[in-house]
Amino acid sequence: MVSVSVDLDAVACYHRIHALPDPPPDGARHAVLRRCLPRFAELFARHGVRATFFVVGADLEEDAEGRAALAALARAGHELGNHTHSHPYDFVRLGPVRVAEEIDRGHAAIAACAGAGPVGFRAPGYEISPEVVGLLAARGYRYDSSILPSPPYYGAKALVMAAMRVAGRPSGSFLDNPRVLLAPRRPYRPAPSVPYRQGGEGLLELPIAVTPIARLHVIGTSLILAPAWLRRHMIGAALRAPFFNLELHGIDLADAEADEMPPALVARQPDLRRPLAHKLAALDETLAAARAAGARFVTLRDYASG
Ligand SMILES: [Zn+2]
Repeated sequence: MVSVSVDLDAVACYHRIHALPDPPPDGARHAVLRRCLPRFAELFARHGVRATFFVVGADLEEDAEGRAALAALARAGHELGNHTHSHPYDFVRLGPVRVAEEIDRGHAAIAACAGAGPVGFRAPGYEISPEVVGLLAARGYRYDSSILPSPPYYGAKALVMAAMRVAGRPSGSFLDNPRVLLAPRRPYRPAPSVPYRQGGEGLLELPIAVTPIARLHVIGTSLILAPAWLRRHMIGAALRAPFFNLELHGIDLADAEADEMPPALVARQPDLRRPLAHKLAALDETLAAARAAGARFVTLRDYASG
């Protein structure tokens, strides 16, 4: 079984990571929902994929055009999951009241858009806490899909953040508890006190795909940036597992020039410097390989309910 999910982080989120001005210039502000989202819809239609879109509640409130597009995708059988109200990178550090508020406001905005409340959650920056797991379970959520148990990803992020600190421009991002690196690769029920470990009941954690042993993260950005031989290896390894939880981001299908991506952001994100045709081809190759391997595409909601 293969689940494809897309985190619809707006350009403003990337500006916060890279310590660039927030909000970004007007042209790029709604680019993810207005320009990238239709490309995903088309890609998924071509491969018969019903996907899960993780939506930031505030974007629905601010952008009627994006909201209408997401409502249409929900009607077509795609899932809308909760990606918080405002995508704060310090989400788990906000304290119980504001953490609950982020979950609940995101939930309400998505319920109003899709006609039904979300049952799945993904935290900003791949970081959860016992508190978050407890709040989701108390609200009847079926799954969380925030864990990325990948030392290569963790190392690369730590390096970038250290460099930014040295340069006097600290990142808006945060580094997770290193215990996440030992989290299971397979779906599990997190222990109430340590969500990186198996041992609970109720809520299901659906970790994002990593390869065995090296635990290389198999996500949109790594598939787009990898040389062809490595991409093939990553796809093959992910497809040998019983469940391939493929995480993409809306910005993965941005066209830097046509979508008016701010040059300062393009300078900091190598994936934005790849032509759209290359990025589409990498994702096409991934989904075609899944189909050739006989994969069944299910939303994360369907996987968690099955
Ligand atoms: Zn995000």
